[in-house]
Amino acid sequence: MKIYEKAPAKINLLLDVLHKRNDGFHEVEMIMTMVDLADRLEMEELQRDQIIISSQAGYIPLDEKNLAFQAAKLIKDRYDVRKGVYIHLDKKIPVAAGLAGGSSDAAAALRGLNRLWGLNISDEELCVLGAELGSDVPFCVTGGTAIATGRGERLERIENPPQCWVVLAKPPINVSTADVYGRFKASELKWHPSMKDMLSAITSGSFNDMCASLGNVLEEVTLHHYPEVLQLKESMQKLGAEGVLMSGSGPTVFGLVSKEAKLARIYNGLRGFCKEVYVVRMLT
Ligand code: ATP
Repeated sequence: MKIYEKAPAKINLLLDVLHKRNDGFHEVEMIMTMVDLADRLEMEELQRDQIIISSQAGYIPLDEKNLAFQAAKLIKDRYDVRKGVYIHLDKKIPVAAGLAGGSSDAAAALRGLNRLWGLNISDEELCVLGAELGSDVPFCVTGGTAIATGRGERLERIENPPQCWVVLAKPPINVSTADVYGRFKASELKWHPSMKDMLSAITSGSFNDMCASLGNVLEEVTLHHYPEVLQLKESMQKLGAEGVLMSGSGPTVFGLVSKEAKLARIYNGLRGFCKEVYVVRMLT
């Protein structure tokens, strides 16, 4: 039997870092939402006890370093599954881009293997498993829009955020999340985005207030080290996106746009100097 599972990219509407914890992780407060730029996983059961990963993308690991491999191994070990699986990853999400591509692949593998092997694992339990693989994986298991706290694994779902278009632009550099957090100093921050303002914007359905409340403290590090990301933000603003922010640790910049008529100008303007530009919808 073969099954398919979509693995959408995430963006952070808000990303705040409170402090570094004793266990080495950072305590964060985020609002994350999914967009409809997605990888696609094809999963086929193997009678022999083996996990095989393939992908058309030449630039990701296909061994035990791949997060989809780690998800399959975890679920097999924990639920004592003696069969194997062949997973093909059709990658569409740019890698090391701040869009949680690897985390979303891991979450899709957990969801898909739960179905393929008829394990009946609850979403809550899949999230607990996901947290062992990475801080963003629990959110990617359930998707939608959510507040994420702790190291990102404690989730509270938010219903019906204002709908809009999202323009994603990734400059031709890869940014390591670990590197950005390594350089980040929470104690030196002079400003924090307001979770309260963002939540009231979302719950009152105000697109304009949502745009005004966007904030990501990791911009302090990434924009400083990669001026091309700052330039991309400025271009997106000039071209007419109503809210502009870097996603995660970068380097992808996203622009929120309420009117379809504006999209062609923004897309064409960005394509002038940035090869990877995507126009997508928020998946709520
Ligand atoms: P995040 O926003 O969660 O920090 P990201 O979008 O910045 O993630 P990913 O695309 O998940 O970054 O890739 C980070 C690293 O993970 C890459 O260097 C890549 O080699 C490795 N990796 C492991 N598995 C995968 C996968 N299935 N897809 C993409 N990258 C993977």
